[in-house]
Amino acid sequence: GKKYIATPVKTKEILNKYSFSFKKSLGQNFLIDVNILKNIIHHAGIDKNAGAIEIGPGIGALTEQLAIHAEKVVAFEIDQRLLPILQDTLREYSNVDIIHEDILKANVHDVIKEYFEEDQEIHVVANLPYYITTPILMKLLREGLPVTSLTVMIQKEVADRMAAQPNTKSYGSLTIAIQYYTNAEVVMNVPKTVFMPQPNVESSILRLTTRKTAPVLVENEDFFFTIVQASFAQRRKTLRNNLTSHFKNEYDKETISVLLEEIGIDGTRRGESLSMEEFATLANAFYKYKS
Ligand code: SAM
Repeated sequence: GKKYIATPVKTKEILNKYSFSFKKSLGQNFLIDVNILKNIIHHAGIDKNAGAIEIGPGIGALTEQLAIHAEKVVAFEIDQRLLPILQDTLREYSNVDIIHEDILKANVHDVIKEYFEEDQEIHVVANLPYYITTPILMKLLREGLPVTSLTVMIQKEVADRMAAQPNTKSYGSLTIAIQYYTNAEVVMNVPKTVFMPQPNVESSILRLTTRKTAPVLVENEDFFFTIVQASFAQRRKTLRNNLTSHFKNEYDKETISVLLEEIGIDGTRRGESLSMEEFATLANAFYKYKS
């Protein structure tokens, strides 16, 4: 059969041919297992009409599978040294475009307009560089891109935090930030052996399904996220104490107690016990009082 890029033998062959040396600072851990890639593509919900946006194609392991299963693939790669390699490894796939750009600086809205059809279903699929997982995902979510899902390989500990439920150790402000924009689910844990070189941390595949409407109504989004962050500032402190120290220049302890009582949230609870709805109620009450 066909020799895919994502095998140890083929990957080594490509690395040797180009004397490529991994840059740790760019989070370069390439996938060398076709089954894992097929799992990622399956969980992403890619079909032959879909458009795919990839972040960090590396030598093209995932890009190749996307090219086979999707209608169109656009991949952002920051490392100039990989451009000639990708041109070689992906030469037989005419439905792939590589953009040499830092994803954190890219205008993804414009790229979508330029490369995909109107109304085409678009999925973000990536084995992300772990050093900037959260900035990349938060950028893409805040921009409100017209994408159906983001299915990404990331550090297991971060995936667990993004998909966490209340009253767990992993639940925190990152959970709320991600789940405000998406439905988050860890679809599978992945052994280190599928990477070259192997990362120091455990990995998981996380599927984020974007929401059509916000899950809670908040008066002011920035203030909502401020309240969430303040509530988790010191995890062992009560909600009331965290809010009191955050708003020490704005409200006295008494006012905070009264506000909490009015909305029926017990101030002796910990931030980690509050649902997203409760954070919204809290933020809206404080925002109203403020203005
Ligand atoms: N997709 C390939 C695979 O699975 O084998 C490579 C994944 S590797 C974990 C991460 C890739 O992201 C590398 O190719 C790296 O050069 C690239 N990268 C790192 N920072 C980036 C950035 N800011 N913008 C775009 N690509 C970046």
